[in-house]
Amino acid sequence: MNFPNTALIRFMEQAGVPVVVERGGRVFPASSRAQDVAEALVHWAQSRQVNIRCRAEVLRLIIEGGKITAVEARTNGRLQTWHARAFIIAAGGLSYPATGATGDGFRWAEAAGHTVTPRYPSLVALKTANPPVALNGLALRNVSLTLFIEGRAVEEAFGEMVFTDDGVDGPLVLRLSHKAVNALRQNKKVTLELHCKPALSSEQIQARLQREIAAFAGQPLGALLRKWLPAQLTGAFLAQAGLPPKKKAAQLNAQDQKKLIAALHSWKMEVSGYGGYDRAVITAGGVAMSDIDYKTMRSRKIENLFFAGETLDLHADTGGYNLQIAFSTGYLAGKSAAKYLADL
Ligand SMILES: Cc1cc2nc3c(=O)[nH]c(=O)nc-3n(C[C@H](O)[C@H](O)[C@H](O)COP(=O)(O)OP(=O)(O)OC[C@H]3O[C@@H](n4cnc5c(N)ncnc54)[C@H](O)[C@@H]3O)c2cc1C
Repeated sequence: MNFPNTALIRFMEQAGVPVVVERGGRVFPASSRAQDVAEALVHWAQSRQVNIRCRAEVLRLIIEGGKITAVEARTNGRLQTWHARAFIIAAGGLSYPATGATGDGFRWAEAAGHTVTPRYPSLVALKTANPPVALNGLALRNVSLTLFIEGRAVEEAFGEMVFTDDGVDGPLVLRLSHKAVNALRQNKKVTLELHCKPALSSEQIQARLQREIAAFAGQPLGALLRKWLPAQLTGAFLAQAGLPPKKKAAQLNAQDQKKLIAALHSWKMEVSGYGGYDRAVITAGGVAMSDIDYKTMRSRKIENLFFAGETLDLHADTGGYNLQIAFSTGYLAGKSAAKYLADL
């Protein structure tokens, strides 16, 4: 692999950005400032005589004789034509338009004869049918979520999630979202199953429940459940379990206890949709890799054109893998474009 994560860490440290390794092997700048990474990259490029033109919008590629000869750009309202002998498209995707994502890279690639696979938001919040208003903003830790597609469990993840005004979000949800969005796009039935106590077996829950029913005998179910769940969750949880919150703990019969245990293990939420590009961490789909020589990132259609990053039909799970894709392909595209020029 060209420029793997270890090379990126070395590069950053040499560029004056020490890193720390946090839980789960995740690597961050020790300063916790993303800006330090950006400044180090700019400084590194400028120290090598790279001319960076900011506030310049590239409008189109100019293709002549099967090669790109120039790009047309607009700076401060003025149209300009910039000539070069090699070009790299690294224009990102469509996610988070506020960061400058325009989807232009897809349009340029298409105009240059590349296949661009359908794009859609990924690593994104999911919408659920009838989200309980009372849960908006509630974060749950140490829970697990199982993704069901057409009734079949396809993936399970453990960690943190948060309820939103229209569904669910958070690291757990993002991890499952790619498969969920894919299935929704094919009109398949998608369900999430929340396990509030994934570390406990049904028998362990039953034993603890028995003890607490005795201790909370005269109190309503809601009070008993606060020993198990955040207070904000109990109302919606009991509605899901089909149990009245005012029922006294001592009145719980064997059937009620079964319902409670089942709900703690399996809170089903029907997934009805997903967030848009304004909420998606990445854009799935893009320039087809079959049109790219992946050993050089060079286009198979236009000999002086190279690609890097999210414009490509490459995407990965959460955990820094998408940034690493951008760095690895960017490194390779840059190196290959330089070699192409040297060989001319
Ligand atoms: C909120 C958020 C959080 C994220 N968190 C993570 C994370 O924790 N880990 C991870 O791995 N990934 C994360 N990602 C994804 C990651 O940031 C991207 O996959 C990565 O930045 C893609 O790099 P890129 O260089 O391909 O595109 P970008 O970083 O999007 O850069 C593309 C650049 O092209 C410019 N551009 C576009 N069109 C034009 C034009 N016509 N003219 C001139 N310039 C243009 C844009 O302004 C932009 O500066 C996150 C993304 C977002 C939005």
